[in-house]
Amino acid sequence: MRGIVRAGAYLPASSQGGRRLCAADEDEFTLVATALERAGTPRPGSGAPMRVRPVGDAGRLRAELLAGFVGGPVELGEPEDGRGALYRALALAARAAGPEWLVVATRLGDGSSDSELAPPGEGSAALLIDDAPEAAPIPTESSGTPGAPDPLSEVFAALARGSTPPSLHAGDWGADPARGRAGPTGRPGPREPAYTVAQGAFVPGPRYAESVRSRWRFIADRCRVCDAQTFPARGRCGSCGRSDRLEDAPLPLDNATVLASTWIGQGGQPTEFDAQVEASGPYGVVLAEIAPGVRLTLMVADATKEEVPVGSRVDSRLRRLYAIEGSWRYGRKAVPSAASARARPAAASL
Ligand SMILES: [Zn+2]
Repeated sequence: MRGIVRAGAYLPASSQGGRRLCAADEDEFTLVATALERAGTPRPGSGAPMRVRPVGDAGRLRAELLAGFVGGPVELGEPEDGRGALYRALALAARAAGPEWLVVATRLGDGSSDSELAPPGEGSAALLIDDAPEAAPIPTESSGTPGAPDPLSEVFAALARGSTPPSLHAGDWGADPARGRAGPTGRPGPREPAYTVAQGAFVPGPRYAESVRSRWRFIADRCRVCDAQTFPARGRCGSCGRSDRLEDAPLPLDNATVLASTWIGQGGQPTEFDAQVEASGPYGVVLAEIAPGVRLTLMVADATKEEVPVGSRVDSRLRRLYAIEGSWRYGRKAVPSAASARARPAAASL
């Protein structure tokens, strides 16, 4: 049967006035990437392009950004927006043949989104529609609960109720949209990147483009000759120097251990981060071990200094870094680990 085969959902960490609100370093690309990651981003290599149908703010996505993120070709369909957009997209995906991803993003911070797509506030979802015996039914407008606030909330609620096997969905489906961290983690970032002159932390465009699989998805090169792992991937084995026998080796995205941290305040940041400091205040940088012997320096998002102490665990999320020469640069940042957040209440009740 054709239905929902996999589903991932994401809600920003903070809430204000009972609604979730994106941080200053989140936009439609980071929202969709996070939802896809939770659903299980398809591995490239099948040859066929990944077919993606964008809904809401996801309609602003650029295909080349998404292709860089999934590491293979992407065929971006016609965006659906406005009243009934999610149900229209679901109906089209139901009639299509073969695997198709439906990605939904809403970003209300600048007042430009249609609020009917919002799962009270901002957020994103990624649904893989395909033919499979265990597929969950695709919601239709007539199957919706009368008085339901909006179709995305409806999908969130249906999946949270367990109308699909739990193995099919991951992320914030069951989270209360109103119960995020108090207050915003900074005002919403601008839509368009400023034209900033390159200085400091800047990496030239071509070198950046080559490195996105390592920067955005923590992909290392594994050498099939000497078995060494090179990270960031450079297309060349860091141990034996060969470039012809490399394969992608994805490192874990979550559960890294913080080895050291520092907080960078007003004036101490590279100029690329001036806008961020102005919007959100001082930011943290941690040195974290993501896999045995693999250490990374990551900026911190959605957390105070006290929430990411040395020895704690952090997850990583794709976020905006800064605007340079008219485009946004993205990279992974550290956020407090979801696993350790779940463990905390249990420990407190002992
Ligand atoms: Zn080698």
